Amino acid sequence: METGNTPAEFPLLDATRAFLAKPKKMLIGGEWSEAATGRVLDVLNPANATLLARVPEADATDVQQAVAAARRAFDQGPWRSMKTTDRERLLLKLADLVEANARELAEIESLDNGKSVLVAQGLDVAMAAQCFRYMAGWATKIEGSVIDAGIPYMPDSEVFSYTRKEPVGVVGAIIPWNFPLLMAAWKIAPALATGCTVVLKPAEDTPLSALRLGELIQEAGYPAGVVNIVTGYGHTAGAALASHPQIDKIAFTGSTQTGKLIGHAALDNMTRMSLELGGKSPVIVLPDVDVDRAAAGVANAIFFNQGQVCTAGSRVYIHDKVFDQVIEGVAKIAQSMKLGPGMDPATQIGPLVSAKQRERVCGYIESGFAEGARGVAGGKRLECPGYFVEPTVLVDTNHTMKVVREEIFGPVLVAMPFSDIDTAVQLANDTPYGLGASIWSNDLSAIHKLIPRIHAGTVWVNCHSLLDNALPFGGMKQSGFGRELGRAVIDQYTESKSVMMNYA
Ligand code: ADP
Repeated sequence: METGNTPAEFPLLDATRAFLAKPKKMLIGGEWSEAATGRVLDVLNPANATLLARVPEADATDVQQAVAAARRAFDQGPWRSMKTTDRERLLLKLADLVEANARELAEIESLDNGKSVLVAQGLDVAMAAQCFRYMAGWATKIEGSVIDAGIPYMPDSEVFSYTRKEPVGVVGAIIPWNFPLLMAAWKIAPALATGCTVVLKPAEDTPLSALRLGELIQEAGYPAGVVNIVTGYGHTAGAALASHPQIDKIAFTGSTQTGKLIGHAALDNMTRMSLELGGKSPVIVLPDVDVDRAAAGVANAIFFNQGQVCTAGSRVYIHDKVFDQVIEGVAKIAQSMKLGPGMDPATQIGPLVSAKQRERVCGYIESGFAEGARGVAGGKRLECPGYFVEPTVLVDTNHTMKVVREEIFGPVLVAMPFSDIDTAVQLANDTPYGLGASIWSNDLSAIHKLIPRIHAGTVWVNCHSLLDNALPFGGMKQSGFGRELGRAVIDQYTESKSVMMNYA
């Protein structure tokens, strides 16, 4: 098969070439299998729109087999009774394997998603390894509590009462295409730490790193069926997983629209769910800032990963005292950014993930212009086979515009001035979303007063989109519910059982 590799000046590891060249199968019950129908779907390299690989196109039949395998592994397999220290050891081993294969995983991610290979290695892969390692620690620290029960209607009672945290069961994990390996780790790691089993469905645009992770899971020695990976489309394989009655919990990251569909399907079976959804995260720049530092921060908040970040700082509100200078700085940065394939270490803006995403982003830019916005940087797609869109900065925007109200998921910033902090707060919160926000200032008093007024799951100060495995991450309002990472995620993958023991 002809593979859509990058030009010869960016050579791939032999291991990456070997992985790309071999036929791709899904991981079900510890075996590598094709789709029951034998159908495959094409995976394209977004840097040049050529064929990168083909993966099985799972449908409801394959999902049924994967869920059955996960169910068996949870109900009957050795996993449930495995010592927490052994689960910890297996997670640590997986972390080591991810690290040992970091460059290969980064190349696969870069070719599949379009992102910079340096970002893929330094952030996606490194944080995925660290996520397995961090969650390994939780495997031995899952605790209930001993509760002194009063039982008012049994005055002479002597009851020993406690709670235990038990694994929620079989987890269906549906993940997006912007950080494919990292999102797989965010779901699989807490599931394994708590003793759950998993069926993972990566996004149809970016299934490759999950399949490579599946090989590493096999190499680490997990019992069959503990982790199953099915590749396929959302409306077929994803929908079958979300509505499956044998799934105990759905863990989803993706758009709010799809999250609502999944949430409805899950609720019909009373399936537990955590939904990490879209955002339109505000960036607030106060008048005391160092203009150059703020401009660099604002540019990074929106353009990192081509703006394909759920917490991307896609709306900026800048105090009118510094508005022109900060925007001039952001526009200069946008105009100077080097567009290119993710495999080129000099690339600052890679291609968007797909032609569909490029059309969507360009549609938003056009709608902004049609509604009266003015571009001070970018505004166009590149005329080449790859899915490139220029980093774009729009001014003269307001809250009636689609480009200001809706999530774009691309390198498009809308900027608005404000003159008093109450207006900035009102505008920042005037959105259905509540995932992230950042404040740029050195005025400690203003910052502390502002933080509680912003409706967002994370507020950054003088930084944006920073993540750590120890900090809970998730959204308010239509950005979803539940929290990933940190201690908080353990609650999402466990059920609490109360025990009362009469010893009178
Ligand atoms: P996008 O539209 O940009 O692909 P989505 O939020 O729809 O973003 O996709 C995120 C994940 O959700 C992907 O793995 C996708 O296959 C899956 N998905 C899409 N539609 C559905 C659906 N109806 N049911 C379950 N999963 C879905």
